[in-house]
Amino acid sequence: MISQPIKTLLAPDISDLLIPASRVANVMTTNDGYHAFLVLTKVGYSKIVVLDQHERIQGLLSLQMLTEKMLTTDRIAPENLLKFSVASVMETDFKVLTQPIDLDSVLHDLVDAAFLPVVSNDRHFEGIITRREILKRLNYLGHHFDNFYTASQCAPLKK
Ligand code: AMP
Repeated sequence: MISQPIKTLLAPDISDLLIPASRVANVMTTNDGYHAFLVLTKVGYSKIVVLDQHERIQGLLSLQMLTEKMLTTDRIAPENLLKFSVASVMETDFKVLTQPIDLDSVLHDLVDAAFLPVVSNDRHFEGIITRREILKRLNYLGHHFDNFYTASQCAPLKK
């Protein structure tokens, strides 16, 4: 459990950390690999979310998954990307967060993932929480903790 003073300063309202779905780049399950490659290259992120036609999250897609499909024994074959759909290559085993978002889970799961998708109960995609947003809050906490609490006067606990 994260202590309450830390929680209060790190994320008084955890929803403030959410980048809403409307501002998150995505591809659709039915897009072909070629289209997805263009989107990923253009947005500049190495991994993005994959949605179905009902805006439910179905997977994650990375540039690496696509470049893998382009590799032949002796050359890179971009035309291969036209031959498969995003659904057939995306990652489907990934962590999501549901409301109410639990800060402990966010911090724990962001160790292994650069971002965490947030979904409603029917997997409707609501947005993402990124490492960057957490690190911004951590930076704030580090600089302002003493304005709110007096930990600097406390001796460290003896083990
Ligand atoms: P950051 O912590 O800002 O570096 O973001 C971590 C990861 O979250 C990025 O590498 C992307 O995979 C994803 N991400 C962040 N912002 C967006 C966005 N606006 N649209 C899509 N993916 C994003």
